[in-house]
Amino acid sequence: MSQDTTIFSKIIAGEIPTEFVYEDDICVAFNDISPQAPTHLLIVPREPIESLDKARNKHQETLGYLLLVAAEIAREQGFAESGYRIVINTNGDGGQTVFHLHVHLLAGRPFVFPPG
Ligand code: 5GP
Repeated sequence: MSQDTTIFSKIIAGEIPTEFVYEDDICVAFNDISPQAPTHLLIVPREPIESLDKARNKHQETLGYLLLVAAEIAREQGFAESGYRIVINTNGDGGQTVFHLHVHLLAGRPFVFPPG
């Protein structure tokens, strides 16, 4: 699939109306359409990196930034202390379905480990 044709690129481009709970020059964050927890946000870089597998050294700053944004959102939304789960599904066995790298931020219930 072309990187520019994913649903997330369309959301970022404003072609699919979606409320951003956070946005800046590097990334956007919005609610997952099929939430797996009381809070389930997706933090998505504007640059359409296909997956973590396709990330390279030039993406180092962006990757770190996504995690810092997730932690900031967690503090702002008040669940940092109770805890949360960060997930980056990667390729087929990792359960990735949208091939535009993204960070899942899940909170509001306990999570087991290892995940299913
Ligand atoms: P993945 O399986 O690639 O790790 O995660 C993709 C996520 O995107 C899934 O949790 C799925 O529910 C979510 N998703 C798919 N299409 C849309 C959409 O059109 N809008 C939103 N907000 N989330 C979507």
